[in-house]
Amino acid sequence: MKRNNKHRILENVLVEDYAAEGKSLARIDGKVIFIENAVPGDIVDVRLSKSKKDWAEGKAINFRQYASNRVTPFCEHFGVCGGCQWQMLPYEQQLGFKQKQVMDNLQRIGKVALPPFEPILGATDTRYYRNKIEYTFGNKRYLLPEEVGDPNLSAFQDVAGYHVKGLFDKIVDIRKCHLQAEPTNGIRLALKDYAISHNLSFYDIRNHVGFMRNVQIRYCRSGELMVNVIFGSEDEAQRVPMLDYLLELFPSITTLLYTINTKWNDSLFDLSPEIYHGKGHVIETLEDFQFKIGPKSFFQTNTGQGERLYQVTREYADLTGNEIVYDLYCGTGSIGLFVSRQARKVIGVELISEAIEDAKENAFLNNIHHAEFYAGDVIKICDDAFFSKHGRPDVIITDPPRAGMHEKLVEKILEIAAPTVVYVSCNPATQARDLNLLDAKYEVTRIRPVDMFPHTHHIENVAQLKLRG
Ligand code: SAH
Repeated sequence: MKRNNKHRILENVLVEDYAAEGKSLARIDGKVIFIENAVPGDIVDVRLSKSKKDWAEGKAINFRQYASNRVTPFCEHFGVCGGCQWQMLPYEQQLGFKQKQVMDNLQRIGKVALPPFEPILGATDTRYYRNKIEYTFGNKRYLLPEEVGDPNLSAFQDVAGYHVKGLFDKIVDIRKCHLQAEPTNGIRLALKDYAISHNLSFYDIRNHVGFMRNVQIRYCRSGELMVNVIFGSEDEAQRVPMLDYLLELFPSITTLLYTINTKWNDSLFDLSPEIYHGKGHVIETLEDFQFKIGPKSFFQTNTGQGERLYQVTREYADLTGNEIVYDLYCGTGSIGLFVSRQARKVIGVELISEAIEDAKENAFLNNIHHAEFYAGDVIKICDDAFFSKHGRPDVIITDPPRAGMHEKLVEKILEIAAPTVVYVSCNPATQARDLNLLDAKYEVTRIRPVDMFPHTHHIENVAQLKLRG
């Protein structure tokens, strides 16, 4: 290992282990170096972006030797689009690392007694697993390192794909993405080609002008296909023929919407998608449950693995048919409805009122009449009056966002002392922190990670907790 201080480049670094958030690490003179886009076993040169007393971070910019277990990534955009960082690892190894990451977090941060882990539930489909994808149109293409400096090549090209991580105004021009089944690529490319051949402008995110902005595609295993084309301004004369063309080319589209977004950000929550064709939503199935998904609804993005995650959750809830179950952070109520046939009553709580409306509709759609849903902040809603009104919980299922549970909610759970808690988490670090707090009264009795996002570092983990006797 040689140090080149001037350019802050470390040469000949042997990558030793995995770290959090998809990075790997090496140790040099007692200092930990977090390294992006390398895996253990690689020998690389690292350009540091940050260097502190005990740790530093950077990116592998030159590979002197590849780890022997690497495989050839199947996607031509690997390493550029930033979406599937682990394609260079065999899937079994990705799973092994995810399991280890959960274990490390729960042991190191959680510091609680743990049962043996049940084996991680790997995905049956490691490609085409997303039911929802959003592509971005832009007027600035991300140039590959070998293209930079080519005087004949301008970055100002109309493209469609994904934002480059860390470079908000540049778009990776995607030819083929493997995350969603066809016609996902067909639809994106057709819109792009149509817009180029009709001289329609692509969104310029620096100046906030341009017609073609985003497209969202939801493809369900029920076969229903919803497309929402998002425009930067309204232009009916251009919009209508384009949408007609799309419908003609892809008759499998069951619902076509468009949305006019003149805001500075891409978020849909305060916009009004308009139905152009079809009923305006799709129906997705989990087991024999049906879920109505509109353009703004939240739903697990991997249907197959979502179903398995919920099966683990239901198993961990140990239901017999007599229980009052609380589904906290319930989103559109999917977990609560999924477990409802084994419960006496289900009470769901969620911050977003539109999601609660969806939850109620989904209950109705599935003929479930013993599930109630309430909109509001869990820490405000779940007070003594709420629990005495709806009944003391036998089982609390909690599925918080990445930040984990609010401490006040943890305190409330300890106070209310439901016999069983099932904690579904998308961030083992915050789950570990919360398990540590819950340890005051609860023992962790079962643990099972579930892989929802093959080729990424993301991991979902389900833990069963029982009140100590
Ligand atoms: N259980 C659902 C969704 C989990 S995602 C499912 O499986 O589909 C986490 C959810 O927590 C999101 O829907 C988010 O809107 C909600 N949320 C975040 N903070 C919250 C809070 N303070 N109170 C209630 N819900 C909250």
